Amino acid sequence: MDLEVRQVTNSLKLVRVGLINYYLFDSLLFDCGTTCTALKLIESLDRSIQSIVVSHAHFDHIAGLAVIKSKFPDARVFAHERIAGLVKKDKVIETWNEENREFCNKFGENVDPFNLDFEIENVSTENFPEHLKIIETPGHSPDAISLLNEKEGFMLVADALGYPLSSGKNIPMYFHSFSKYIESIEKIKSLTDKVCLGHNGAIFNSEYCDVAIEEAFKLKDEIQGGLTEEDVFKRIYKEEMSLYPLSTIKAVARLLVKRSLE
Ligand SMILES: [Zn+2]
Repeated sequence: MDLEVRQVTNSLKLVRVGLINYYLFDSLLFDCGTTCTALKLIESLDRSIQSIVVSHAHFDHIAGLAVIKSKFPDARVFAHERIAGLVKKDKVIETWNEENREFCNKFGENVDPFNLDFEIENVSTENFPEHLKIIETPGHSPDAISLLNEKEGFMLVADALGYPLSSGKNIPMYFHSFSKYIESIEKIKSLTDKVCLGHNGAIFNSEYCDVAIEEAFKLKDEIQGGLTEEDVFKRIYKEEMSLYPLSTIKAVARLLVKRSLE
């Protein structure tokens, strides 16, 4: 897995480990990736971490929390209020472990099982300095949050704008709700000029929001016109998406069809 470090603004640093974007400013880390990418992140760190924000409860954003928290046991962990309950469910942890193991194995990395048996605090704007705002951005997932830095004009949006392939293509990711996904993207566009996504080093100006909306409508229209789950799967299981577990991408195709037909 290759590692890229990029200074985005005065305070914001991107550390990309393979497909996963980590964002650092001051002693705050936004998003946790997988366990194997988190180990590589830790090796590259030039600071200690005091706050960790988890963008949403998908394995490629939360599994690495176990590794980061064991390196920085005093760091406070913040996430949407739904996530503190989710991590107590054995079945959820088991599924994330399977996806995390399969993902890391594809990169030749062996991983240990993990749990998330520690306090996760409800994230809120009050937890942070005044220029940082927590914005709920559901649609990709019900517990998706974004972090806006008003002073430096950037927003960390994780997967709220879909999945950016390194070829430049955008894969829509409205797993929770199509209408909420579109609403969240419109909200993001109204709040910031710079959007920092969750994968493949993708940082764009806010015009990218229009691309994400257009691609989402295009896919929904095609599904409503008869594109099947199998068609959607074949279309998206390529480039970086093919490095995800097969079962994950099958579930992605199933959800995209389901939400398009609601
Ligand atoms: Zn996600």
